Amino acid sequence: MALDIQPKMRGNVLMGINPMGLKQEIQNQINYVKSQGTYEAPKRVLILGASSSYGLATRITLAFGGGADTIGVSYENGPRTERNLGTPGWYNNIFFKEAAEAEGLVAKNFVGDAFSDEMKANVIEYIQEEFGGKVDLVVYSLATGRRTDPETGETYRSSIKAIGQTVEGPDINLEKEEFYAGHLEAASEEEIEATVKVMGGEDWYIWMQALHEAGVLAEGAKTFCYSYLGDNLNRSYYQDGTLGRAKADCDAKAEMIADILADINGEARVIVATAVTTKASAVIPFFPVYCLGLYKVMEEEGTHETPIMHQDRIYRTMVYGDAPEYDEVGRLRPDSWELRPETQAKAEELIRQIDAENFNTDFTAWDTFMHEFLNLNGFDVDHYEHEEVTLEDLQALEP
Ligand code: NAD
Repeated sequence: MALDIQPKMRGNVLMGINPMGLKQEIQNQINYVKSQGTYEAPKRVLILGASSSYGLATRITLAFGGGADTIGVSYENGPRTERNLGTPGWYNNIFFKEAAEAEGLVAKNFVGDAFSDEMKANVIEYIQEEFGGKVDLVVYSLATGRRTDPETGETYRSSIKAIGQTVEGPDINLEKEEFYAGHLEAASEEEIEATVKVMGGEDWYIWMQALHEAGVLAEGAKTFCYSYLGDNLNRSYYQDGTLGRAKADCDAKAEMIADILADINGEARVIVATAVTTKASAVIPFFPVYCLGLYKVMEEEGTHETPIMHQDRIYRTMVYGDAPEYDEVGRLRPDSWELRPETQAKAEELIRQIDAENFNTDFTAWDTFMHEFLNLNGFDVDHYEHEEVTLEDLQALEP
């Protein structure tokens, strides 16, 4: 039976995958980083949520730009049948590792639940026994809808909702290629709390506490958690909604982690990253329409970025470069291009005119958005040439 490698969508979730397309996509990202040259970066890095989009891009820039050995933690599934080839991140881990090892770099993948005590213990043991005993940088880039608290065994599910109001606005169904009037409910107190439990900073804090207690953080170690803020155009459903509440919790935890790391002169910071097309962002109500308008404007301005471009700029020019931009509470703000008042004003003007007739035309950045969305699962990948593989070939690949 031939492998089923068609892009299939359910709502705004892309289901089908093309593993060899993902291999080429990783290579494209590596090539991008190499085209920018090398930079001085720490050599021992732990990335939580390393298998796709921002976490993966972080891993690629630090390895291929900074020469870092990396440990990546992610939650992914491997291939089971010709029709169920697993998740994109499964292959991203494998093909990243293959490329990194070919250059003499260590690339260790842990696949399982980052929220669990067991995963934390396994990673710490690996650092102690096989990774030289210390890490210099820990990046927290998890995005998920569910978390089981290891202390209580209770499972929390996040809700992407507004707070204290309902929100109406234009939305898109990518599967049906349909533009419609969306409606977002107000969250209950319980839903707000659960979302903070899942997407807030608690698990980041637990990780940093465990790593610090185990003595595996190097002197001067840094840790970053990725956040998003946006501005007035998406405030009602993001910053003022449940996700915004979770991100505010990350800000609070950054301060607590900085306190813990004071004795090793460590640094804990939130990095507010720009809006990009990812598995996580495609399912945020109204957000794809925001991206269609924003990208169009930023492409015209020459500032539109994909995750690899953004993360490479963050580490090369800001974290380990001489051009960091901080805000008044100490967050790193590479999202400043997105939030330029002229850019937001132009995006607002354009988004106001997006309708059912023009949302999927050149009037918006539809082609760019769909290209990036399909790339996530290995489709529409630049320079990809079809390569025949079997289920057995794929099952023989190990993370
Ligand atoms: P993504 O869905 O592409 O990646 C999420 C990662 O988390 C994957 O590696 C996945 O395997 C891992 N993961 C999920 N649950 C896990 C678990 N239980 N155990 C181990 N690993 C698990 O997400 P993304 O869009 O790259 O988002 C990463 C971070 O960046 C999030 O904090 C997000 O809020 C932030 N961010 C995203 C955007 C955007 O526009 N996408 C903008 C700014 C900030």
